[in-house]
Amino acid sequence: MTDTRVNLLGLTRPQLEAWVLERGGKPFRARQLFHWLYKRGETQFEAMTDLAKAFRQQLEAEAEVRLPQVVTRQDAADGTIKWMLRADDTQAFEMVYIPDGTRSTLCISSQVGCAMDCSFCSTAQQGFNRNLTAAEIVGQVFLAQKELGFEAGDNRLISNVVFMGMGEPLANFRNVVPALRIMLDDLGFDFSRRRLTLSTSGLVPQINKLAEEINVALAVSLHAPDDELRSQLVPINRLHPIAELLQACWHYIDEQNGRSVTFEYVLLDGINDSPAQARALAKLLKGHPAKVNLIPFNPFPGTQYRRSRPESIKAFLDQVLKGGVMATVRRTRGDDIDAACGQLVGRVIDRTTSRLGNRNIAVVVENSAESVS
Ligand code: SAH
Repeated sequence: MTDTRVNLLGLTRPQLEAWVLERGGKPFRARQLFHWLYKRGETQFEAMTDLAKAFRQQLEAEAEVRLPQVVTRQDAADGTIKWMLRADDTQAFEMVYIPDGTRSTLCISSQVGCAMDCSFCSTAQQGFNRNLTAAEIVGQVFLAQKELGFEAGDNRLISNVVFMGMGEPLANFRNVVPALRIMLDDLGFDFSRRRLTLSTSGLVPQINKLAEEINVALAVSLHAPDDELRSQLVPINRLHPIAELLQACWHYIDEQNGRSVTFEYVLLDGINDSPAQARALAKLLKGHPAKVNLIPFNPFPGTQYRRSRPESIKAFLDQVLKGGVMATVRRTRGDDIDAACGQLVGRVIDRTTSRLGNRNIAVVVENSAESVS
């Protein structure tokens, strides 16, 4: 039997107001529901005692609050937690919690698998299955709070949310944007714009579209200072080369009155980690609202790459700083449970769409066009 009840976690406040109105209810019911859901963490309608009984019965019949189901949970020695979550009978995706002093970051997924085919990322090896729904994206934050022992009124368990799990968030624009709105809503999770980071491999039309829609922190996976190398590492670069990508980034900052874009740069031994490449990177970004986040490569089975040596990482960092661009090195967390960047694999058995590569570039472009319209 298919369940046709709507999962309320996927509705923004205006959408929920419209939904309530259609059923003859008053729009303020949507505010009450948001409060129960996001401030109290309540998932059972019968417990929402300030809602009229008839309305609660209607909710029971037509709506639900469904969280992703946990398949496995692994706790790392450093406090990092990784969950594998069920997408359906065969598919799964991953979510990671990274506590770090006063800061605690939840890393969430936007797709089951990924179609971008970046050569150094283990998610890419899995292929792409499907987009997560807005409810599944919001549901990750809801579920993580619950797993961490959320109590009503306490919104400090998770200070930051980053879209750096499985998937390319901008290839799932139509679900990611409403999910971001729910996370930002002051009656929703009420995250500040600076603590909500969307990371993209560089889908230029979607970055431009995002600039018209929403103000969040933008991170861009750059990984190389020139087009030849970047096209090898991040195949989408063949469609949207670096100059075009940077243009879109600066446009985003202008439009959204943002602070700066974070450029992620995974350091691969002997590939993109020379001092000359560091200087070229600094030259690209100097004078712009940009920060560099260097990520020591996290290996996975079958990869051809190696992590840069500590002295190369240090030298690279120094050169970027000397070139006049702010830079930091990301600390590797949770690697004993394969929860570090690029190690999230979930379980993607049914690859309805294959990876990007040269052959399949049209697939991603098609998806992108759909999400922009
Ligand atoms: N698709 C989005 C978000 C997911 S990946 C994006 O590309 O930005 C989050 C970050 O981890 C990206 O910067 C990605 O390039 C990086 N990453 C991927 N594989 C990695 C690996 N094996 N080691 C270190 N970082 C990796």
